[in-house]
Amino acid sequence: MTIPSKAIGIDLGTTYSCVSVFTNNRAEIIPNELGNRISPSLVAFNDSEIMVGEAAHNQMSGNVVNTIFAVKRLIGKQYSTEIKQYLRRQPYKVVGKNGSIAIQVEFKNEIRIFTPEEISAMILQKMKTSAELYLGTSVTEAVVTVPAYFNDAQRQATKDAGSIAGLNILKVLNEPTAAALAYGLSKKVNGEKYVLVYDLGGGTFDVSILKISSGGTFQVKSTSGDGYLGGEDFDNRLVDYCVKELKRKFDSDISKNPTAMRRLKVACERSKRVLSTSVQTNVTVESLFDGNDFSIQISRALFEKLCCDIFKNTIKPIEFVLEDAKLSKKQIAEVVMVGGSTRIPKIQSLVKEFFKGKSLNHSINPDEAIAQGAAIQAAMLSSYVPPNLERIVMYDLTPFSLGIETTGNKFDVVVPRKSILPNTFMREFTSAYNNHTRLSINVFEGEKTKCKDNRSLGSFILEIPPYPKGVPKIDVTFNIDGSGILTVTAKDRSSSSSGNITITRNQGGLTGKEIDKMMREFEAFQFQEKEDRDAAMLRYEIEEFVLYLKSTYDDEETEKVALSVAEIKLVNYIDSLILWMDNEPGKTKSMYQQKLDDLKELYSATSDEPPAYQP
Ligand code: AMP
Repeated sequence: MTIPSKAIGIDLGTTYSCVSVFTNNRAEIIPNELGNRISPSLVAFNDSEIMVGEAAHNQMSGNVVNTIFAVKRLIGKQYSTEIKQYLRRQPYKVVGKNGSIAIQVEFKNEIRIFTPEEISAMILQKMKTSAELYLGTSVTEAVVTVPAYFNDAQRQATKDAGSIAGLNILKVLNEPTAAALAYGLSKKVNGEKYVLVYDLGGGTFDVSILKISSGGTFQVKSTSGDGYLGGEDFDNRLVDYCVKELKRKFDSDISKNPTAMRRLKVACERSKRVLSTSVQTNVTVESLFDGNDFSIQISRALFEKLCCDIFKNTIKPIEFVLEDAKLSKKQIAEVVMVGGSTRIPKIQSLVKEFFKGKSLNHSINPDEAIAQGAAIQAAMLSSYVPPNLERIVMYDLTPFSLGIETTGNKFDVVVPRKSILPNTFMREFTSAYNNHTRLSINVFEGEKTKCKDNRSLGSFILEIPPYPKGVPKIDVTFNIDGSGILTVTAKDRSSSSSGNITITRNQGGLTGKEIDKMMREFEAFQFQEKEDRDAAMLRYEIEEFVLYLKSTYDDEETEKVALSVAEIKLVNYIDSLILWMDNEPGKTKSMYQQKLDDLKELYSATSDEPPAYQP
């Protein structure tokens, strides 16, 4: 008997998410409440509840401004010009809060603000619940995947989302590495081979080259990608086309109507999928404009023309990773295609053409491979490592160079790009001025020589005694864990009093205190959500019971049957109960329970016989 690992793997995707667990010597996909193997990465709010996944999807067209999608494109980012540009297409409201992104919704008739971490936490929590139902036990540990080029802030924010959802994130794993793990485990590798993973999902594009050895070693050689390239962009091209045609043919402009735009986008996404297997389809939306239906024929050729520049943009990162890994096209043994968008025939033919007609590997499920890889990694990191995973060793790389600012805004690299993870790097620095007692350690990531052209990760002050310039010896240590998350410490060698200082993250990142607060709020929300659900179930039970009793006593009244004292008591109680149900505000689960108990008691008192109705 194999002991199932209770650590799960979650592919937290831009448009869909997927959860898997390693059990019975393989990574099994865990279905959601509807039996589907992937769930929409959607969170919706209304006047009474928060809906996640399928439930959010089902109500989306009637509640577009409060349905949050593609939050992965926002996580770990600042409220920048780039983000504002991207958000112009989104129907939901995003505001800046101290430079950070804040998502504004109407929930329980109040305006509420949520961070991208909190929205992601709701999706992760939903995945966790599906896993708990499937495994019949609580789940507290997970590996969550991110695109390989996610920077420190995006990784940390994803990890924070896990903490808010009550998950201990064992590792933030790169998506192509996860896909390679799933691929490698399903194949027998003799000797060593280079595998290129082409991962085109809903919102992000990732390409990596890995060296897989027969002993079970996975080594990432190079990685590249684009955080703003994916299936959603193809949907948008189709939407833009339809909007133009609507204007041209019917002189109707729906671009300012978020509900119509969202409904059109859903129809376009559906048609895009059809075009992967058919050469022609219709985009059809009922009552789209002025009560009129909209239908337009789209051919595969037209779709390809509309998206051809974006399709071609996926080739450059392939060239880059090959060059970076110093490999020729010929040296790539397999091109593994993952991500839902790799089902598009034109994408397949472009990649095939680039590799001079080489067949592409579609042996792993493009929607599920990343979650499976994450589950394999989760099992490898859990206390019980399944025997067939014991030999696997994995080396991942840092996607960017990391370093600190020195005189003249110079970027002094401490951790070169493509360093193997996890790792610790130490460099000695000194002061540039006499009697400098407050050294500012400014940490950056990027490849440019000037700090102003790279991304700032944070800074801290190290207090030292006054020295002549060049005398102090400051050891700056960069520690990057297996998830690619960085901690920087600095220590003055002669004055041990300063001790170590851990980097404080820039605005945008959550502090430990904020995470704790969000966790408590999240727990309260979960409790409230359960309370609300239970209350709704009890209300339903009462309504069913009342309906049954009303029909019985209405019949007896028409037949003029004399009622007993107990029956009169019950009928009166039912009348007062209906009034209470319709009018009393703020009804809670315990109030409903009390009413149902009273109703059952009065009903049993009407007969010595056992009750005919068993709710
Ligand atoms: P992923 O992030 O890997 O789940 O991929 C989701 C993206 O794949 C979405 O943009 C989907 O619209 C897209 N997708 C899924 N199936 C197909 C298909 N058959 N043809 C084209 N795109 C698809």
